Amino acid sequence: MNTEMKEYQAEILSGKEFSAAIKEEVAEAVSKLKEAGVEPCLVVVRVGADPASEVYVRSKVKTAEELGIRSEHRHLPEDTPQEDLLAIVDELNAREDVDGILVQLPLPKHINETEVLERLDPLKDVDGFHPVNAGRLAQGHEALVPCTPAGIIDMLKRKGIEMKGANAVVVGRSNIVGKPMALLLLQEHATVTICHSRTRDLADVCSRADILVAAVGVTGIIREEHIKPGAVVVDVGMNSITDAETARDFFGDDELEKRLTTIERRGSTLVGDVNAKAAKSKAGYFTPVPGGVGLLTVAMLMKNTVKAARLRRKV
Ligand code: NDP
Repeated sequence: MNTEMKEYQAEILSGKEFSAAIKEEVAEAVSKLKEAGVEPCLVVVRVGADPASEVYVRSKVKTAEELGIRSEHRHLPEDTPQEDLLAIVDELNAREDVDGILVQLPLPKHINETEVLERLDPLKDVDGFHPVNAGRLAQGHEALVPCTPAGIIDMLKRKGIEMKGANAVVVGRSNIVGKPMALLLLQEHATVTICHSRTRDLADVCSRADILVAAVGVTGIIREEHIKPGAVVVDVGMNSITDAETARDFFGDDELEKRLTTIERRGSTLVGDVNAKAAKSKAGYFTPVPGGVGLLTVAMLMKNTVKAARLRRKV
């Protein structure tokens, strides 16, 4: 028997491939909207100088442009008063030509995030964080759904992975990923369990999952003993590691060398919540970090912008 194949059996779900398919559909939808006289427009508001936010916003604006979506980037200084930010949200809410508004998180500490997000017009809330959209999702009505979990469902459907009746376990219960992920899986008729920091025996719960979604933010919290053989393992986490020892524990010889070189050159390498070596040898499907869920998130933001334009303008 070929031991190579036995060691690395999981099929890698490429975010690049799935996001390309979503983007192609969005570009088509945008040109149809334009034929109907509608030019979808996304405005991204960023406050302060968080370096990660800068990278995310750049990628969002660039992707919008590629797909024919008009985009605006409002960059405000770190010390912008809450009232000024709310006034900008009000202005964007009122603008007829604006379909989607995204306030990049995290916001500086002096700003009340909840108040800002609740100020958005729910019809323009392309991140899907407004309580109206969260409530509509919980009740199973048409809504703008948070991009990361929506992208994961889209990918699982495209891959033909059966969610109906499957045991799905979501690790993490944030409003951005964990909770909406669980609700969407429920909508697809999975039997859903949500785990969090107080869960007793995480490995025992996870090891029964046909579909396991890790959205925690803890490097390698999901290991061999958490994975049911052949499971679909979706890694949302984005963490960075800086030492060779952790990399050796995390990666098999298919990618260890590349990662060690990255650490040497840049001082760190991006990893997820799932031990890659374990997932590749035990899961049936696995989304890598990077190159998995992150790419889907941006593509779904574009899909949400088109959806917002259609819903609000009734086209
Ligand atoms: P949050 O910090 O808001 O939530 C983390 C969740 O993990 C919480 O519910 C927490 O539980 C739970 N948790 C923490 N420690 C443990 C533990 N030891 N065992 C079990 N559960 C635990 O994070 P987010 O949901 O915003 O993000 C999660 C990860 O996903 C991060 O790494 C983030 O960077 C990444 N991310 C990636 C995206 C992408 O596009 N790829 C998009 C969004 C996020 P409790 O509620 O009890 O505290």
